[in-house]
Amino acid sequence: MRLASTRDSRLHVVVDDVAVDVTDALDLPTGPGGPLLTFLERGGNLGAISALDLDTLPSRPLAALDLDAPIARPGKIVGAPVNYLDHKAEMGEQRTIADYGVFLKASSSVIGPGADVRLPYRDVRTDQEGELAVVIGRTASRVPVAEALDHVFGYAPLLDITVRSGEDRSTRKSFDTFTPFGPWVTTADEVGDPGELELRCWVGGELRQETSTRELVYDVAELVAYTSHVMTLFPGDVIATGTPAGVGPIKPGQRIVVEISRLGRLEVGVSDEGAIDYDARPGPR
Ligand code: MN
Repeated sequence: MRLASTRDSRLHVVVDDVAVDVTDALDLPTGPGGPLLTFLERGGNLGAISALDLDTLPSRPLAALDLDAPIARPGKIVGAPVNYLDHKAEMGEQRTIADYGVFLKASSSVIGPGADVRLPYRDVRTDQEGELAVVIGRTASRVPVAEALDHVFGYAPLLDITVRSGEDRSTRKSFDTFTPFGPWVTTADEVGDPGELELRCWVGGELRQETSTRELVYDVAELVAYTSHVMTLFPGDVIATGTPAGVGPIKPGQRIVVEISRLGRLEVGVSDEGAIDYDARPGPR
């Protein structure tokens, strides 16, 4: 099942080219996190949606939806540094996620399909990182690897936008608009093995990244288990699983596309509106 949220805070089941509005049927109030987060926080699961008679609910063409990120403000966004060996090589890294652990991105950095990534600095490189996102469906604390996937609700394409400056990852990756996510969440039952997905990412029409999630250093189950050993994962939390080789600078006016097999295609723009020189950032030095 594919679940899409819109800017007016409504939740839709996407069936081919049609979107069925399940917001009222599930009695989902509007809120800043979006209707899917509300649904998951309440303990909602696939069965609750499958039980609906979609034929009796209002529907629209998918193309008519004003899509937002499927979860506009997750409780937390966990990131996975150096989780593909080809990216380790291109960055000249000596270490991997096994040494670094995970990091956090601000939940305020999320945008949805069609929105613009805003570059914060005119004179510091900002890169795209195409990634597979995992959406947690059940609270996970210290879960073993063998049980980890039972806690996953679904998956989506995601971009982990990153400034290449000297600050900690949480700063460089947390600017507003730095976590494009969507176009929808595909539930885990439809995805099957998350270790067999093909990921491609284009910038300005150029194919920059191409990998299989088979190449992950920590695969999805290991990443969920490891993260849950550090922090409790709640329904609606998002884990960005890391990026393969091919990261590179993004420029105003470019389009970024990340496509993952079985999950769909996320496209956003790039803008330099409000960008400043790095030396003009606040704070004494
Ligand atoms: Mn990343």
